[in-house]
Amino acid sequence: KLIVVLGGGESGVGSAILAQKKGFRVFLSDSGVLNDTHRETLQAYRIAFEEKQHTGEYILTADEIVKSPGIPDTAYIMQKVLAKGIPVVSEIEFAGRYTDAKMICITGSNGKTTTTSLIYHILRSAGLNVGLGGNIGKSFARQVAEESYDYYVLELSSFQLEGVYDFKADIAVLLNITPDHLDRYDHNLQHYVEAKMRIIRNQRTEDAFIYWIDDPLVTKEIEKLKPAATTYPFGEKKNGHMAAYTENGKLYIQTKENIFDMELELLALEGMHNVYNSMASGIVAKLMDVSDEQLRTSLSDFKGVPHRLEKVATVRGVQYINDSKATNVNSCWYALQSMRTKTVLILGGTDKGNDYTEIEELVRSKVRALVFLGKDNSKLHAFFDGKVDEIRDAGSMTEAVEAAYQLAQKGDTVLLSPCCASFDLFKNYEDRGDQFKECVRRL
Ligand code: ADP
Repeated sequence: KLIVVLGGGESGVGSAILAQKKGFRVFLSDSGVLNDTHRETLQAYRIAFEEKQHTGEYILTADEIVKSPGIPDTAYIMQKVLAKGIPVVSEIEFAGRYTDAKMICITGSNGKTTTTSLIYHILRSAGLNVGLGGNIGKSFARQVAEESYDYYVLELSSFQLEGVYDFKADIAVLLNITPDHLDRYDHNLQHYVEAKMRIIRNQRTEDAFIYWIDDPLVTKEIEKLKPAATTYPFGEKKNGHMAAYTENGKLYIQTKENIFDMELELLALEGMHNVYNSMASGIVAKLMDVSDEQLRTSLSDFKGVPHRLEKVATVRGVQYINDSKATNVNSCWYALQSMRTKTVLILGGTDKGNDYTEIEELVRSKVRALVFLGKDNSKLHAFFDGKVDEIRDAGSMTEAVEAAYQLAQKGDTVLLSPCCASFDLFKNYEDRGDQFKECVRRL
């Protein structure tokens, strides 16, 4: 049987290695240029591949196609594949066939990486033999080929979920659903929601479904779908059957008889959004019988994930925070909401059709000054001019940090939380965050 892998990134290369190990004939095809490491890996494994093109004669004779999450069904080659009726699956579906490990899967529009990393930290600290994959680090498929874990914690995007059929999450976590990536879903929110809800596909009563009950989109969908799994809702306040909630400055988790509690102040991650992420992670931990003591330690000593509300340094009494991963307005809202001091906010970049109304009130109450960092700041000016005392424009990270340094007063925070993608001035959000950290260190 011939397996064709479309896309030669981490996910595709991992799938190709696993397919070869399982005795299939394998061909990998990428319309772009592979990075050197991936090319060398394929050569070392003697896996046939092509780059800068999709040659139909190979691809269209495949028995099955493993498609990387970045390739939309509207791509020319996919149209041909679909017209021919060749089965198409995602890396997660493909690799899931070859492991008996328990699957803990996390999806949502915001908070996936943070929550996935936190769950991994808790389970590893508790001594479990657990792998971390999905959108993070070494691909799931490659780990299935090369490692042997009892559990996997997987971050799953809607694109990865689209290609799952028989795969089952033993524990599924749905953090939230806000409009994102709608360009890939015919600008139809319902299609995006349906892709996310595939996380509960194939689940049975003995499986767990953990979700954020304060999200109206999520709850509406759940009423409609009536999940077969046992449900564990979490939210801000106790309201009927809840697996986690807050009360009087404390977080409570109850999955069985015993109730776990912890002061919110002791959580390693700040901000209400991170209380939700900690709740979801705590429910997973309790379902897996992690002790209260272990859980408390792990929730308080987690180091966080770079570029998500990452503390960089304090310079002359001003704290600098890197939240470069906040590429939409909703993420910036949570970042601003968690600020405890007056803030100089650096924002801007490639606008994805943003509506800044969502953060207007927080900007008025917490922001001392705004620094617009982008090639084209006209939309930001049109919205914010007259609403904040000081606004500066910056055409580079050095200029932005310099301006923020001048505008901030002792005791303030300088926050990079851009609301926008980074591609106008930077390679990606990591590059933007790294440059920020470098400029702050030079101060
Ligand atoms: P993802 O992997 O889903 O993109 P991340 O964990 O990388 O999510 O966080 C991205 C940004 O989203 C963070 O900078 C933070 O501001 C915001 N965020 C994190 N968790 C949540 C949440 N539960 N709800 C809303 N926003 C969140």
